[in-house]
Formats: sequence, structure tokens, C-alpha cells
Amino acid sequence: AEPPAAMAVPQAGAPSLILLRRVGVVDPASLDDYRAHGGYTALRHAFALGPAGVIREVTDSGLVGRGGAAFPTGRKWQATASQPDHPHYLVCNADESEPGTFKDRVVMEGDPYALVEAMTIAAYATGAHQGYLYLRGEYPRALRRMEHAISQARARGLLGDDILGQGYAFDIEIRRGAGAYICGEETALFNSIEGYRGEPRSKPPFPVEKGLFGKPTVENNVETLVNVLPILTLGAPAYATIGTGRSTGPKLFCVSGSVDRPGIYELPFGATLGELLELAGVRGRLRAVLLGGAAGGFVRPDELDIPLTFEGTREAGTTLGSGVVMAFDDTVPLPRLLLRIAEFFRDESCGQCVPCRVGTVRQEEALHRIVERTGAAAAEDITLLREVGRAMRDASICGLGQTAWNAVESAIDRLGAYE
Ligand code: NAD
Ligand code: SF4
Repeated sequence: AEPPAAMAVPQAGAPSLILLRRVGVVDPASLDDYRAHGGYTALRHAFALGPAGVIREVTDSGLVGRGGAAFPTGRKWQATASQPDHPHYLVCNADESEPGTFKDRVVMEGDPYALVEAMTIAAYATGAHQGYLYLRGEYPRALRRMEHAISQARARGLLGDDILGQGYAFDIEIRRGAGAYICGEETALFNSIEGYRGEPRSKPPFPVEKGLFGKPTVENNVETLVNVLPILTLGAPAYATIGTGRSTGPKLFCVSGSVDRPGIYELPFGATLGELLELAGVRGRLRAVLLGGAAGGFVRPDELDIPLTFEGTREAGTTLGSGVVMAFDDTVPLPRLLLRIAEFFRDESCGQCVPCRVGTVRQEEALHRIVERTGAAAAEDITLLREVGRAMRDASICGLGQTAWNAVESAIDRLGAYE
């Protein structure tokens, strides 16, 4: 059965929306409607600026990746564009699988042409002529809408051999994921496209140098790419005034859990966690908020003044990640929740490296023993969790193993989960 459509929550003061301004407004099947609402203005600007000019704008805007890691997008594009090896590839990572993350789905379902246009601009700037959209297998509606948008763009000369009569060739192929969380890791994703097992590669070399098929590749998240449209239409200086000095622009937040109005919210970076939760309406007595998803960390109800920026959450000892905000009221049994997170990582570990393959099992076993004791922890299990967690963080190949202990650690240290 098809899951219900993900929601962009109608927000008061909607004229300020930038990324979601067309979602729920335009007909996602209509290219004409997209153009009538400003579509393809940014691509025209891009052609006028030329590839180097586009990269300069993106760099000056301060845009950083919205998949979770916040790497400077302009730096990534410049590094790929300058590689002498060819061909260059563009890969859009739409395999969003972080528990509690559903922002890219809302964009693809509600404004699919925006992603087609943004991918075209990214490819143009970095010298790519072939793009891949790696789409989460569990997003059938997004798949249909993206397929339709790509075919319409192709039919109207907005993809293909001579885009907008500018002599630039680019096309997009969709590849579907098959339900593995690890295939959202960029190098596992490349392996999956190439037909190999979805296992991460060691980095460096980074994809900007050796990515898909061993060639220079820009890999960006959906939300990162669609930010390029307002950067080009508003101009980098105006865009950079939105948000804070080190986290510029608008951000999509995925709010779920014990709230009255779950869904996607767009706010400029810098709003506080409390302000966001006020919009969503906390239900019951708040016990904790999980920021950044299963790989993120918990914060307490007395920490709601944390600014929702990459640097603000880091300074507060947590992470913004991909923008997950999951609220839990005091009826939620935390030890069981942590066990569920541990099961998830054990299940999704690709098994390639020992610290993660074995560590995620040991972590789950220890949490299981704690749950069986109806929540009370024995000191030796906490010690074991810390030792295993350190080993996973220090010695795992990829982000999955390196972050598999984050939520458990923060629940112990910040929430006193087993006291
Ligand atoms: P990372 O920090 O290793 O890399 C981030 C990006 O920057 C990558 O594209 C990488 O290639 C690039 N990069 C890093 N250093 C570079 C350099 N020196 N030169 C050129 N490029 C460089 O992080 P990661 O492992 O790719 O991603 C981890 C993040 O993914 C976590 O923060 C987590 O929140 C997020 N995540 C998101 C989802 C989701 O569904 N959106 C799912 C799982 C994890
Ligand atoms: Fe695979 Fe885990 Fe190692 Fe990542 S850390 S490569 S998921 S075993």
C-alpha cells in the first residue's frame, strides 16, 4: 500500500517561505505551472553567469550540505569542476532514510521540477553531462512525480542535447534504492548504482576526485540542491543574510513524535528549538527531544533555547544532522526506544568492518539486558556500552558505525536514561 503523502505544515507568515513556496501551490505534474511560479528563472541566470560564476555565487552564499554533514557546497563543486579527469558525474542523493527524515520526499512530491532544474544547474557548473537521481525505494509517489517531471523536461528541451538552446547537454537517470539505509552513504550509493553490493568505500579519495565509476562526482542531497535556485534568483549576498553567519539560508525541519502538528517546517537557521516546537504544539509533558535522528542526540526540556544552526547544536553538544526533531513525552519508555535504535543500527550495518558489525550487536545485547531488568542498568553494562561505543566511533569505516552510539550516549549522559 502506498504511504500517505508527507506533509508540509501550513505555516503562518507563509510569504516568507522560500524552499516550500510552491509545495501545495503548484500542480506538481505541470511544467507550465512550475514556470508560471518562477521555474527555470534560476537556470537562465546560471547560463548568463557561466559555470565559474555559478560556483562563485554558491560559494559566496555560504550554502552547506543539508544531508546532515554540512560540508560547504561551493567547495565541493569547485573541487569537482577543477578535476582534469572526465567525465564528471552529478549524483543527487534522494535515499533519505534517517529515521524521522522526510523533507526531501515533500520537495520531490510537491515541487519535482525544482529538483530537475537544480540538478541541471549543478551539473552545468561542475562540467557533468549525466546525472543520477538515487531515490529511496519506499517513495513510490516521489518516483512517479520525478519520472514525469524528467520526461516532460526532456520533451520541452529542458533536458537533453541542447538545453534552452545553449548548446549544453545533460540528462538524468533515476535509480531506485532497495531499502538499505547504508545506500544513503555516498560511496555505498555509488557501488549500488554500479551494480555492486551497497558497501561504503574508504575515504579519501573523496568523490570529488574519484566517485561514481571512479570519476569526479558531485554528490548532493535534494534539499541542498534546491537551495541553489533561490541563491541564483535572490543573489548570493541576499541569500547569505538569511539565517546566521555560519548557517546561512532557510532550513527544512522534520517534526514528529509527541506533537499536535507533525510535518515539515521551513524556518531560517537560527530559530530556537523551542520556537519550532511551539509551531508544532507539544503534546503531553515533554521528556526529551531527539535532534538529528538515530545518529543524533537527545536534549532535555530545559535546553529548548538551543539555536537550530549547525554551530549552535554543536556547541550544545548535539547535532542538527538532516533536521530531525522528534519530541517524546513522559509516557515514552526511553530504554525501549534506545533498544529500538540499537536494533536499527544492528540491522542496517553492512557488516564490512568489525567494530560496527560486532559493536552494534554488543550494544543491542547490553540494551536488551537493561530492558529486561525493566529499565535499570547494571554498572557493567554501562561500562560495556561506553567501551563498545568508543570503539565503533574511533574505528568504523563510515558514518553508520561512527554514530551508532550517539543517541544512547546522550540518553545516558544528558537524560540519565537508566537512573
Ligand atoms: P562526511 O562529513 O564524511 O562528508 C560530507 C560530504 O563532504 C561528503 O559528500 C564528502 O564526500 C564531502 N567531503 C568531506 N571532506 C571532503 C574533502 N576534504 N574534500 C572533498 N569533499 C569532502 O559525512 P558523510 O559520511 O558523507 O555523511 C554523514 C552525515 O549523513 C551525518 O551527518 C548524518 O546526519 C547524515 N545522514 C543523513 C541521512 C538522511 O537520510 N538524510 C541518513 C544517514 C546519515
Ligand atoms: Fe558497514 Fe558499519 Fe563499517 Fe559502515 S561502519 S562500512 S555500515 S560495517
